[in-house]
Amino acid sequence: MNLSRFMNKSKPMTELVTSAGSEVECDNCRSTGKIQCAACQSKGFVKKFKTEQLKCDVCAGSGTISVQCLTCSGTGTSTRRLRYEDKGGQGAIYQQGLLFSAKRTQTVSVLVKNNDDLAGKFEVIVTLADGKSTSAKGSVNLRPGETAPIALPLFPISSKDGYRASYEIIPEEVETACTSCSAKGRLEKTCLACQGVGQAASQRQIAESCSSCAGVGQIRCAKCKGSGRVRM
Ligand SMILES: [Zn+2]
Ligand SMILES: [Zn+2]
Ligand SMILES: [Zn+2]
Ligand SMILES: [Zn+2]
Repeated sequence: MNLSRFMNKSKPMTELVTSAGSEVECDNCRSTGKIQCAACQSKGFVKKFKTEQLKCDVCAGSGTISVQCLTCSGTGTSTRRLRYEDKGGQGAIYQQGLLFSAKRTQTVSVLVKNNDDLAGKFEVIVTLADGKSTSAKGSVNLRPGETAPIALPLFPISSKDGYRASYEIIPEEVETACTSCSAKGRLEKTCLACQGVGQAASQRQIAESCSSCAGVGQIRCAKCKGSGRVRM
């Protein structure tokens, strides 16, 4: 539109022309034609949080960690006593023990059954409550499932009432492969830090050029279409 006929050509163009149909300064942009970008507060860039999947530090991305077996302390072997069945003492029984009264050597035996799947040695100690704790010790080697007596000679102090006797069976300690770790000494466990995924989410702040103002920090005034002036 040609507005030149309303303007006084002797005046500079920047001066306000107030006649009807003329242009005035745009109050939206203070006649600059530009307004501040609200999306970035005129900075031209915006900060965003970016989620990244990083390799788990704890398991180096494998999802599992190797830990020492607690059952065998990492040795891969475990020790245990042979399993057995106490078939009882054989001889003169006095209450829970064995009775001795005659002043002569007597033989007592304790019957032991090997209930284990391994062969091994079983030791028996018989002790008399005769004031001197007279004891005798013996042992026997038994195959799995085998039962045998362990005979022990004892010579107690004479007493017509007898003495109580007690016995103790001590099975051999055997070394076996640790069943918890299949004799490896170590166990593979799911990494708790990443729940076995091998990755961990990490949030990182990044700055990006503002898409609203293309990084300029200002956008064109919509009211005056960037001209700084609007028609009355
Ligand atoms: Zn404007
Ligand atoms: Zn992990
Ligand atoms: Zn183990
Ligand atoms: Zn912007």
